[in-house]
Amino acid sequence: MKKRITAPREVLHELQQDYFICTKCKICQAVHVQFCADSRFWRNCPSGTRFRWDAYYASGKMEIARGLHIHEIEPSDSLRHVLYTCMLCSSCQEQCYEVKQLHPTRVFELMREKAVREGWGPMPEHEPLRESMEKNDNPFGVEAAKRGDWAEGLGLKRFPEEKAEVLFFAGDAYSTDPDLFPAVRAAAQVLLEAGLDVGILGAAEKSDGALMLLLGDRDFFETYAFENIETFNSLGVKTIVTPDAHAAWVFKEEYTRELDPSIRVRHVSEVFDRLIRKDKIKPVKEVPLRAVYHDPCKLGRRFDIYDPPRNVLRAVPGLELLEFPRAAFNSLCCGGGGGVPYAFPDYALWTAKERLYEAEWVGAEAVVTSCPYCLQMFRKAVEAAGSSVKVYDLAEPLLASLGKEV
Ligand code: SF4
Ligand code: SF4
Repeated sequence: MKKRITAPREVLHELQQDYFICTKCKICQAVHVQFCADSRFWRNCPSGTRFRWDAYYASGKMEIARGLHIHEIEPSDSLRHVLYTCMLCSSCQEQCYEVKQLHPTRVFELMREKAVREGWGPMPEHEPLRESMEKNDNPFGVEAAKRGDWAEGLGLKRFPEEKAEVLFFAGDAYSTDPDLFPAVRAAAQVLLEAGLDVGILGAAEKSDGALMLLLGDRDFFETYAFENIETFNSLGVKTIVTPDAHAAWVFKEEYTRELDPSIRVRHVSEVFDRLIRKDKIKPVKEVPLRAVYHDPCKLGRRFDIYDPPRNVLRAVPGLELLEFPRAAFNSLCCGGGGGVPYAFPDYALWTAKERLYEAEWVGAEAVVTSCPYCLQMFRKAVEAAGSSVKVYDLAEPLLASLGKEV
């Protein structure tokens, strides 16, 4: 029998206390309002705010979980719409956990796993992602052989032919979307500037599987996770560094159960912060920019990685760091969460435009973030809204402050 990362697996009914206890108090519909001065920005559940019906808020989905449990309701197209328009952004869990210690977002993740097991999830529009995984080892339809193209000319070592202390794992989006190549190249260049011994898998890098897990397909996710874990354990690396917030999420939360315990997993924002504090890199060149930092849900609410990216931006000379009204634990999802953009692109864009409006509201010239899916959503929003706001990966102003170009 194939080994599993989760043994035993957590399944929906194990969280029944959560969805039976949910009192429909609806605290989870808003931010922590005491930390958000303007009521214009108090709502923070994208699906509830967009579709309005109670079912689309966490309170409604908790009731759906209860109804499924006691067979009061059956899966339907409308129930599937409710479940797959959830961004899995964890804003509801951020609110609820403070007062009730319940885990609504975890319930919705496990509802998706139940949906896939029972054959009524994910959405038909998600099927091409799965087909591409089977064909290309990435969900985005790009030939596997091209996965290392982003790194051309950087002089990074290549595993397994060469050995290095650090494995830089680019992730599915950064290594397949040419618009993101400057961002991922900047991240790798910062590590090289710091003198780190960095290697990549290049074309041999395979999907981290995070998108499959978001869609509820744990079996498919684990197929990739196990292959990757075996590869990572065989490389002899000390640290895995990734700029992809979703890869960092599954590496830290899932892979570490089987990964060689001597291997550290870090998101680049954590590494950049440490390199600056240890004087390994010195941001000295002025980068005049009024920038607001957007917290990716999978870094912020999932791992409390709020300060490292802000420390990096504060270290960049000339950069004025602004904050969204909905910042840090109150952050609004960019619209790229939960695999939503692949099935509901208009609603995903609506969410991204709401976040872009917030950036303009604080007078930002640029949004800086540290997740490839956030970058993609903000760029779509800027184009759709005809906005002049610039969108940068955290690595880009940092590399510029080192006096280097991509
Ligand atoms: S999920 Fe939590 S915060 Fe939301 S309605 Fe239920 S008990 Fe209240
Ligand atoms: S995870 Fe996000 S989108 Fe889903 S119900 Fe909670 S707040 Fe709403």
